[in-house]
Amino acid sequence: MALIETEALILRSYNLAEADKIVVCLSRSAGLIRGVAKGCRKLRNRFGAALEPFTLINLTYYEKENQELVSFRQVEILKSRFKLSSNAALLTGFAYMGDLLIDFSPPHQANDNLFRMALACFEAASETPADLDAVLRYFEVWLLRLEGFLPDLRVCANCQKTFGDEVVYLGPDLSLRCSQCSNGRGGAVSKRLLSHLRTAEKLSPAKFAEGAREVSKDTKRETAELTFHIIGRVLERMPRVRPAS
Ligand SMILES: [Zn+2]
Repeated sequence: MALIETEALILRSYNLAEADKIVVCLSRSAGLIRGVAKGCRKLRNRFGAALEPFTLINLTYYEKENQELVSFRQVEILKSRFKLSSNAALLTGFAYMGDLLIDFSPPHQANDNLFRMALACFEAASETPADLDAVLRYFEVWLLRLEGFLPDLRVCANCQKTFGDEVVYLGPDLSLRCSQCSNGRGGAVSKRLLSHLRTAEKLSPAKFAEGAREVSKDTKRETAELTFHIIGRVLERMPRVRPAS
């Protein structure tokens, strides 16, 4: 039995038996983990408010070989989001990101880039709730990229030609092709949409959201349609939670 300590972001929890909970979180050193927090629903318990969704904690847990479910031993709040709990739109956005992290992350596989990206997005949306939509787009682009599902935004998947000013097309295999190679078949992706997506690849979520305030409504809508389409195709279903945009 190994005792492990890591930073973790609480994503979701379920009641278990009378006094316990199963908690799902994204951890820095072990990726997605599911753990039992024994006695956490009793009035006085060692976990306090630390297991509320979207809290960043320092977690110590026991892991048994060949068991997926770990056992929470000790938690310490690093960042609570309790103050934001009256903002329903923000909570829906957080739940959406949490669900996608659960859907896309294989259990017990550390992914430091994903962990840092997720934290930065939760942080940016908490700091500036008005920028939530832009942060969610950023999150979608980076989640797809880090999990290997974002198409190459710069060159044609078929002829390797660098995209110029032309409209390009998203094929059924989720890759982008120039107009010649695609014969105009697939979902059209405009130049302004491509360049907006490329901006997300270069900036922090806060900077991207700041810049997105100047981006047209149409481009934002197209961006949301494209990321949502790719996510739906990868999951082979629609995400459970979808924030209104
Ligand atoms: Zn081509």
